[in-house]
Amino acid sequence: MTRRDITIALIGNPNTGKSSLFNALCGMNARVGNFPGVTVEKKVGRYEDSNGQVTVVDLPGTYSLSARSADEMVSVDVLLGDYSDLPQIDAIVAVMDATHIERNLYLFSQVNELERPVLVVLNMWDRLEASGVSIDVAALSAKLGVPVVTTSANKRLGTTEVKEMVRKLFWEPRIATPGSLFPEVFRTEVSQLSGWINSQGQSIRTYAAERLLLDSGGLAEKRWSSLVDQNDLRRRLQAARERLAAADCRVPGIETNVRYAWVKRSVEGVVDRDPHPRVTSSDRIDRILTHRWWGLVVFACLMFLVFQAVFIDLGSYSLSAGIQAALDGLSDIVSSVLAPGALRSLINDGVLAGVGGVLTFVPQIAVLFALIAIMEDCGYMARIALLMDKWMTQIGLNGKAFLPLMTSFGCAVPGIMATRTIDNRRDRMVTLLVAPLMSCSARLPVYTLMITTFIPGTAYWGGWVTLQGAIFLAMYSLGVLVAIPIAWLLKRFFFPNQPTPFVLELPTYNWPSWRVVVHRVWEQVRSFIARAGTLILSTSILLWAAAYFPGDHRQEIAMTRDLELAMSQKVAANPSDANDISSGNVTRLKALINEERGRLIQESYLGQFGKALEPIFHAVGWDWKIGVGVIASFPAREVIIATLGTIYSLGGDVDEQSDSLRSQLLESKWPDGRPVFNVVTAVSLMVFFALCAQCAATLMTIRYETQTWRWPIFTFVYMTSLAYFGAWLVYVIGSRLGWG
Ligand code: GDP
Ligand code: MG
Repeated sequence: MTRRDITIALIGNPNTGKSSLFNALCGMNARVGNFPGVTVEKKVGRYEDSNGQVTVVDLPGTYSLSARSADEMVSVDVLLGDYSDLPQIDAIVAVMDATHIERNLYLFSQVNELERPVLVVLNMWDRLEASGVSIDVAALSAKLGVPVVTTSANKRLGTTEVKEMVRKLFWEPRIATPGSLFPEVFRTEVSQLSGWINSQGQSIRTYAAERLLLDSGGLAEKRWSSLVDQNDLRRRLQAARERLAAADCRVPGIETNVRYAWVKRSVEGVVDRDPHPRVTSSDRIDRILTHRWWGLVVFACLMFLVFQAVFIDLGSYSLSAGIQAALDGLSDIVSSVLAPGALRSLINDGVLAGVGGVLTFVPQIAVLFALIAIMEDCGYMARIALLMDKWMTQIGLNGKAFLPLMTSFGCAVPGIMATRTIDNRRDRMVTLLVAPLMSCSARLPVYTLMITTFIPGTAYWGGWVTLQGAIFLAMYSLGVLVAIPIAWLLKRFFFPNQPTPFVLELPTYNWPSWRVVVHRVWEQVRSFIARAGTLILSTSILLWAAAYFPGDHRQEIAMTRDLELAMSQKVAANPSDANDISSGNVTRLKALINEERGRLIQESYLGQFGKALEPIFHAVGWDWKIGVGVIASFPAREVIIATLGTIYSLGGDVDEQSDSLRSQLLESKWPDGRPVFNVVTAVSLMVFFALCAQCAATLMTIRYETQTWRWPIFTFVYMTSLAYFGAWLVYVIGSRLGWG
């Protein structure tokens, strides 16, 4: 027998276990990407079969092929072989949740009309057996006219049968010719419409002509508008729909009617239901977990635990700190091997700092996604969405937006990635675009430095409320308060009128499968490193170059060499003194080096740029030094502390607790002797940091998730404008009120 490689596609409703089947068939041999130009995930895997290689495409979960959303459109195109990116589909595998067979058969009735070989997989067979319902597989297969296989994909049961059936189907393709489910009047309209389109020099499939008639304003209509005379098409469609309405065959209602009637006929005598359904343990658990109050209490506790785990970062076992320590160690090794100079500086301050910027996110992402995967896999996620939906709809989002937004308080990168669980595109886009407004933990050092230095420690109500605490809270709330009108505006002007069917179903609880969890965490971490990694690294190197050149570093290098020599002599002379290197010559040299570095950064391209932009900073009450700090922190906002440290000649290794940095800020003066920093400057700077898109990783994640540069650029522009406007408002109002 000759070898032949074939391609099959998996299609099914969401939560039918389609991805589990995909993983069971292909193992780790899968690639995830996006279909070009749309935010639809494309998963392609492979397995070896005795006849050749089988390529498996996992299509996005969908309830219908009516092609209203991008997901559905991609699915139809792939199934019909109109997708240039993929080979022809040799067989379609329709995956169904055996416990919800009626609803799943609706999609099947559409799939079956595509005139391709189809195989039905009844997944969740274990659950069906446990529920006491039985399905007569042979009878179902006879009624549908296609082969039917049963599986429990999460336990990898039945996959051999699926492979065997795919092989058979390919060598003896059985294409069902179900005959139209639609009444005579409808079929007449369809053939008239096809006839007209064919007379225009185009050719249209029956399936597409049906969609044209059924979906008013749908994607099929948009597509065909550009292929034939647009006005003529619209007139014809409208006339045809009116005639159908008159014949009691109104679109789109007719489709639901005929398909469900067919589904009902198909399951007659096939599905045998227990006349007295039992109260399952799932129902009992749900009495608490979806209870109006208890549900919220349990949820709040769980959220608390999740955030402890992610952001307190497992206490002193902090992985991020470990990674940071490892990088510091590496940097020490570099310093001991390389002589002071441009190369050492590039590696330490450019490359290693950049790698650190990427890797320190990894533990957070991994921990969070493991927890999300567990909650999702056991079925709790759907309950959270249900619980929060009422609150989230108040601000124009849906229940599934809650977790991504909560997460963004820690870090917007995993938050934006978590929007993948929102299957409605409009809600997902809006959530993703406001997520970076949530106050992430990288803003914390800036708030801490500004508040502890410039906000007086006034306390009210017997010390229970402090001004510092109140401002801190205000900064955290600012993002949320701004996000609400922004979300509303985005929905109104950028994603208008997209239908929002919030179909939420509660899957039965089950124990999470470690395989699914590990797989998902691995996928997320890998894709994060691959895509954010390259960009953050290059920005970090670019920024390093801007701050290093074109200065003359000879003096700095000579002094660094002296310092290192002095330190090693000291250690050699008295080993017990190794940690006490803060005296005499060493201290003096350190101060000189820091001063020299401050001068160098002033003369660097970055410093020059900051001075050139001074008028822009003046308008919000900042001098060029703050300006340079702000510019340098666009790739990652926490960089501002180290940059301010360098500019104020303290060396880069200050932190927000550093007293010397605080006193330097307090002493910083305008040329006329007024202090640069005061309460107004501090607040305007904090407001700027609260609202600005200063995070290359976030923007890259948006780029990846939306598959276009349009949305990261949009996010950058809207957030930065908003931030500047906010800072300006604070400055103007604050100065008027005389707080400065
Ligand atoms: P998809 O949305 O269709 O891709 O579904 P997934 O593959 O992500 O699976 C949804 C959930 O159902 C996961 O929690 C799986 O572990 C679980 N699952 C998948 N197949 C089966 C099965 O055959 N039996 C049971 N009990 N659970 C399954
Ligand atoms: Mg899936």
